[in-house]
Amino acid sequence: MSLKGKTAVITGSNSGIGLGVATELAKAGADVVLNSYTDRDEDHALAEGLAKEHGVTARYIQADLSKADQSRALIEQAGTCDILINNAGIQHVAPIDQFPVDKWDAIIAINMSSAFHTTAIALPMMRKAGWGRVINIASAHGLTASPYKSAYIAAKHGVVGLTKTTALETAEEPITANAICPGYVLTPLVEAQIPDTMKEYDMSREDVIKNVMLKRQPSKEFATVEQMGGTAVFLCSDAAAQITGTTISVDGGWTAL
Ligand code: NAD
Repeated sequence: MSLKGKTAVITGSNSGIGLGVATELAKAGADVVLNSYTDRDEDHALAEGLAKEHGVTARYIQADLSKADQSRALIEQAGTCDILINNAGIQHVAPIDQFPVDKWDAIIAINMSSAFHTTAIALPMMRKAGWGRVINIASAHGLTASPYKSAYIAAKHGVVGLTKTTALETAEEPITANAICPGYVLTPLVEAQIPDTMKEYDMSREDVIKNVMLKRQPSKEFATVEQMGGTAVFLCSDAAAQITGTTISVDGGWTAL
């Protein structure tokens, strides 16, 4: 599967799943645009590393996706966007009656609204190019719920809804829109939840991983960033040209329960 000549913009891609997806797309030959809200030498070095290793063009563009104008500017600055991966996301865990309003607003903006803004700018570019793929990184929490993650779950269900609408609006064009729904993947976002959960349940790290995090993941294994990237590459292939408006769970059986 060669994605040579295609440009992929991956939001929130200086770590975790975003970087894993960018790496697999670059391996498949796509030029990539990395993004996050920081502007550090190491961010740009990630792009240089991918370019060198895979012989593609790679750039890093700083944009804070909690802001509508910066979300739109990211795609405008990229100039072309054949493959859009909406991946940027944050998490906050608290009961609804104690959930900080600023955290709710930030999660809705970064995890959901940014995908609307990037898609709005990318679709005309895809139409002009005559081909496009929108791949939204939702979550098992875009299909099911857990307590204390109200904003995240609302945002991820929203992303699944946006994915379906994007698919219907592009159904007669060579553009598809789908959501990948990961179960638990051991990334910095998940790593950051371990200490609080250890405290909350008075458990060891191992017990938190096995008995809390992977409790609902029947495989009892974390999914990997490479598996998310491989799924994205598949969605870009001709075999997936009629797959649109749907969700693909990569969750070790979580949503089968
Ligand atoms: P991560 O923290 O490693 O990555 C999140 C990325 O988003 C980072 O690159 C971060 O810099 C970026 N980001 C955060 N705020 C931003 C902002 N304001 N502007 C631009 N970029 C911003 O976490 P991850 O686990 O790789 O998560 C990636 C996506 O996958 C998220 O949408 C997350 O909800 C989803 N997801 C993760 C898991 C998991 O178990 N790790 C499971 C299901 C879904």
